[in-house]
Amino acid sequence: MDKSKLAVPTTEEKREGELEFQIAELLSDAQYEGHPLKEALSALWERYESLSGQIEKLTSISDGYGSMLRERNARLDERNQRHLRQLQKIVRISDHYQKMLQEMNDTLKVSASQDPLTGLNNRRSIMERLAAEVTLVPRRKAALSLALLDIDHFKTINDSFGHDVGDHVLVNISRVMSEQVRSSDVCARWGGEEFLIMLPDSGDYAHEVCERLRLTIEKSSFVEGSDYKVTASIGVTQYIRGEDILETLKRADSALFAAKHKGRNCVAAF
Ligand code: GH3
Ligand code: MG
Ligand code: MG
Repeated sequence: MDKSKLAVPTTEEKREGELEFQIAELLSDAQYEGHPLKEALSALWERYESLSGQIEKLTSISDGYGSMLRERNARLDERNQRHLRQLQKIVRISDHYQKMLQEMNDTLKVSASQDPLTGLNNRRSIMERLAAEVTLVPRRKAALSLALLDIDHFKTINDSFGHDVGDHVLVNISRVMSEQVRSSDVCARWGGEEFLIMLPDSGDYAHEVCERLRLTIEKSSFVEGSDYKVTASIGVTQYIRGEDILETLKRADSALFAAKHKGRNCVAAF
């Protein structure tokens, strides 16, 4: 044991030490031999020593328990810290996976509603938008219109210039279409080279926008390195309150058929 670290005795301990020394001297002094108080002091001294011994034992047991408890607490503390670190790691991993799942969900949502080639809404998505818009019709001032646009002789474009050029035309017509309509209008790829435009609260504006769109397509050159004129036919109609939206779609299709019948590159309204 490092003696320099021994505790310095307190004044009381010093006093107790002196008293013990004094009593020991008195008991061993021959001149008190036979003194009536010596026997009593000697018995008292023995009891004192036995009690001191017991107190020391108890103190050391209690110290032992104290240090055992401290060690146990330190071990528990360390274990808790370790668990906390593991939990923090698990939370970080779980956050990361949740973020990944969220991103995958967003991507899935987009791909479930978007046409991959043109980036426009797909048929499923615009049908949902239509169903929602129909419920808003009573609150709108003007009619909800639907326009079906079909590229004229698209097969010829594919056959003459190749499928890639055909795709390029589809992408560019989609872009022109989105540019020509209002932000509240919705364009969708209805299938192949056919597109559906939903024009809420539009009235006569629907016919105007279809004519403007037809003209813009006619004036644009979509086939690079060729003066081939791409044109489109459009059928437009208005939703009649209370009817099934499929009826409106049928009417738009009949209007488109009429536009084709008239010689293409025109707008027909039903
Ligand atoms: P019409 O004027 O009567 O509409 O004639 P059309 O040639 O445009 O119509 P038709 O239905 O005969 O041909 C449409 C063509 O569109 C046939 C098909 O191969 C092509 N098509 C459909 N989807 C795509 C596509 O994603 N990319 C390309 N490049 N072509 C497509
Ligand atoms: Mg066509
Ligand atoms: Mg077609």
